[in-house]
Amino acid sequence: MNLVHVITEVRGDYTFVVYNYYSGDVKEVRVDADKYALYDDRNSLAGLPDACPFLRFDTEGKAWCTVHFTRPDICRDYCCWRLLIRDAQGKRAGRVLYQRTFLSDNDELGRLWDEMKPQLSGLNDEEWDMAVIRFLTAAGYHVRE
Ligand code: SF4
Repeated sequence: MNLVHVITEVRGDYTFVVYNYYSGDVKEVRVDADKYALYDDRNSLAGLPDACPFLRFDTEGKAWCTVHFTRPDICRDYCCWRLLIRDAQGKRAGRVLYQRTFLSDNDELGRLWDEMKPQLSGLNDEEWDMAVIRFLTAAGYHVRE
């Protein structure tokens, strides 16, 4: 996403102006207060020259948006999902962000998620993904990784 989001101004105090190369949108973002250390450590981006300047990975390899609370609007809709959930008509119904953040776009999927949750506790990350995909697929959704 570095090819999309470019930092055009450093305002200090972890605040930046970001330009969207494609849409022309300009947005001020600020590193989340609990992610300063993560943002300051650029080691996890070694070998990823095209990564968004605000993306970081923690020591367990989990991806984080360090400006999550002020991220650009386009990110709220499209970026950084690990699992994309579509309904039977192909319409986006929800997403899984980062490792296990589940966002539903409609009440039906929200209810399904509430049913699913108790069955996911205690699973490791791989088991969790497989269980979520299995559950959603059985309910008629399509899940893209
Ligand atoms: S969600 Fe965050 S890390 Fe991902 S592209 Fe947007 S600003 Fe960058």
